Order: sequence, then C-alpha cells, then structure tokens
Amino acid sequence: MVNVHIGLDDVDSINGGCTTHFAVQLAWELKKKNIRFIDYLNLIRLNPAVPWKTRGNGAVSIRLQASPEETVGDIWELIISKLEEYAGEFKDSKNQPSVVLHVGEIPWDYEWFANKALHDLVPIDLASRILSKHSETRYYSVRGRRGIIGALAAIGYTMLNTDYTYELVAYRVREYWGKPRLVDSTSIKTMDELYGKEMLLNYDYESNRPLITPHGPDPVLLGLRGEDPRVLFEAYSVLRINEPVEYIAVFRTNQHTDAHLLEVKSICDVRPYMCVKVRGFVKVKPRRIIGGHVVFELCDNECCIDVAAYEPTKSFREIVEKLEIGDYVEVMGCVRPPSSSHGKTINLEKIRVLKLTEIYDYVNPKCPLCGSTMESMGKGKGFRCRKCGYRDPYAKKIAVLRERSIKPGLYQPPKSAFKHLMKPLERIGREKTVFPGVSLEDFVTKLI
Ligand code: ATP
Repeated sequence: MVNVHIGLDDVDSINGGCTTHFAVQLAWELKKKNIRFIDYLNLIRLNPAVPWKTRGNGAVSIRLQASPEETVGDIWELIISKLEEYAGEFKDSKNQPSVVLHVGEIPWDYEWFANKALHDLVPIDLASRILSKHSETRYYSVRGRRGIIGALAAIGYTMLNTDYTYELVAYRVREYWGKPRLVDSTSIKTMDELYGKEMLLNYDYESNRPLITPHGPDPVLLGLRGEDPRVLFEAYSVLRINEPVEYIAVFRTNQHTDAHLLEVKSICDVRPYMCVKVRGFVKVKPRRIIGGHVVFELCDNECCIDVAAYEPTKSFREIVEKLEIGDYVEVMGCVRPPSSSHGKTINLEKIRVLKLTEIYDYVNPKCPLCGSTMESMGKGKGFRCRKCGYRDPYAKKIAVLRERSIKPGLYQPPKSAFKHLMKPLERIGREKTVFPGVSLEDFVTKLI
C-alpha cells in the first residue's frame, strides 16, 4: 500500500465552478472505487494577499491509500479526464486548473514550499524547480501552469502537527446556482444557539446577517465551520434547507488559525503581499479618511508603515481610533503595495494593545481656601480665585493623568469582517496540535 496525495487548484471560475466542488466530485468518484481516504479533504487557504486570486485563495488536497502501482495510474487517468471535463465546462481564461499527484511520504521541500505559499508570493518557476527533483510526483495543467503553485502547496501543508479546524460544506444542484440560497435564517440562529460554542462564524448579530451562506454564483450552498466534524453534522441537521443538496463534504482546513501571519521582528522586514504580525509605536494618531477607513502610522526604531482598519471592519475602527501617539501595539494583517494615493499599508485584521502611553492633561489649580477652580493671571504670573479673592503668583497648572478609553488587550473586528484565515479570539486556547486520524466514515456524500 502507498499513500497518494492529490493537490488541486485554480479549478474555479467566475461563472460557477469551484475547486472544492471539483474536489468533492472527484473524491466521490474515488470513493465509489472503494479507495480508502487517510484524511478528510484538506482545504488549504494560501496567502490571502495574492493579487490574482479569485476569492479566498483556496486549494484542496485529497489523501488516500492505493495498492499496486497500476491503481495510481488509473487514479491519475480518472483525475485528468475529470479535470478536463470540468475545466471545459467552466471556461475562464483567467484560471489555470492544475493537479499534482505525489506517491509516498511528503518531501520536506513540499512542506517548505507550502509555508512559503502561505506567507509570500511565490513564482511558478520555484514550484517547477522543486517538482523536477521528485520523480514520484506527476502534474498536469489546463490553459496555464499557475495552479500548480496552489496544488503543490495543498499537498505540502499537511496539518499533522499544526492547528486546524473543520468545515462541512453543502453543495447545490446545478439549476440553483446563481439563485438566492434557500436556507431559513431563523434556523441558522437556532443552530447557533445550540451549537455556536463549538462552531465559528455562524451569524453576525451586529449586522443581523447569517455568515454560513456565500453570495456568489458558485455551487456552495453553505459552510459550517467548527472544531469537531460530528458536531457540524448535528448542527447541519437543525437547519431548514428549502432546496435540494447534491453533495455534503467535510474538509479539514487551516481556516481560522491565523496560519498566514508571519511574525517579523522589524517593520523594515514588512514587504507588499506578505501577511504579518509586527510590533511598533503609534507615530501619527489614527484618523478617519474618505470612505470611512481609519488609518495611522506605526513605527519602530528604524522603519514606519501605514496601518488601516477598513470600512467593513465597522465598530473595530472605533477601537483603533482610541489609540494615541506613543502607544505600543502589535498589528496583524496583510500588506497592500504602495500606490499613488497611499503608502505601503497593513490591512488590519487584529490588534494587540501592549502598552498605553501616559497622557497628561494640564488643568488650573483649585483654590486652597474655598476649593473653586482658579484662573490664570497671565503667562508666568500665577493664579487667582475669583470667588474668594485668593492670589498665588507662584501657582502653576497641574498635570492630571488622563483615563484612557481603551485597555491593553487583543481586539478583533465584528464577525462579518472575518476572512478565511483569521482566527477569532474565541479559538484562543483551543488550537489543535495533532491530527489523530479520520473518525467519520461518510465525510463525502452524494445525496442526489
Ligand atoms: P477559491 O475560489 O478556491 O477560494 P481563489 O479562487 O481565490 O480560491 P484561485 O482561483 O485558486 O484562488 O487562484 C489563486 C491562484 O494563485 C492559483 O493559481 C494558485 O496556484 C496561485 N497562488 C496561490 N498561492 C500563491 C502564492 N503564495 N504565490 C503565488 N501564487 C499563488
């Protein structure tokens, strides 16, 4: 028996297709052949700052066991024919559907590459160079090779000893694509009441909006995210869904783990298209600009960078606005390149206030005789009390420490502003460190 790892990417298109949908169809075909999966489907979100992504820069891997070598050949043929069929159906000149198949243990350089693809922009030539060193790997692309990057990274990102979560995804039948999703909103709230503690991002109560249903014309009806696949199935059974569901599949995923954030020591090391965690002092007080975005400048001893809490982060911007010059913070987010209108900017996903600067307000002294507030007699001439007539030519303004309206701590935007990789504060302390193996038999099901 050999382990076989199949990586897929860029199979989606703006007019309907989706890499996860293709992967689920393929997994179903493999399942019909009685092939044993060694993992749930893996949904790997890569660097969210990649400029040519369509949506969430997701790639998928399917991991299974096959017996003799000829089975691998059959699997490969099946994949190629299905990929060509799907890519032909959802033609989109921008997408470059690709597959990588690897037999055996995952080489260390695939893992290294996956980490790089999560944090940085990687050239296709780097993927090709690495692939050329491994005779036990084959790959294939339709229209162009770029999808190889994500497909290889999806194989290399194993999540065997890094954090992960699960997502149960339900797929629509073809006739419903592009139409409003018929999932009863009240039942989503009920599900959240019952299972919300074990789940992630079901409903945004601030904007009164369900978060489990996407909005595009893609085949995904809904996605339930959480810590345990069994709980996701239970939660799913509470939903009132008023349209047919074709497939249900469970993905193990790096979503909501903050895996994209690379800790960098200095602001000088922050480059465009990276996603980082970096510390510095507030240099220029946050200000609200046209469009409702809140922007401030962050510096360390050597370099500075703009940081922006964009309009969709809603109430989070009010927290950021409370920062003052000199506050020491850790910012987390992806980096937009500079343009004619703005400098290199970190798109703020979360902020940790580490140390608040002490701010003093200078106020007039109180009269020592009657307690009223005294008034100045002119610059350097002391203060007098209007009420009782007391005068003190040596009195000075008194420094009073201002009570700050923000406390040290970690702050996040409302749930509606969460992107795929962002870890909600509620997950802190629940991070997983090992994958004990597949515990559910039917994690890919075709219902119709
Ligand atoms: P999905 O719809 O599945 O969420 P997406 O549509 O946003 O994902 P893709 O259409 O898959 O993204 O496009 C992303 C493209 O960028 C793919 O071709 C992928 O190989 C490539 N890619 C992924 N990560 C990187 C990276 N770090 N550097 C360069 N290219 C990358």
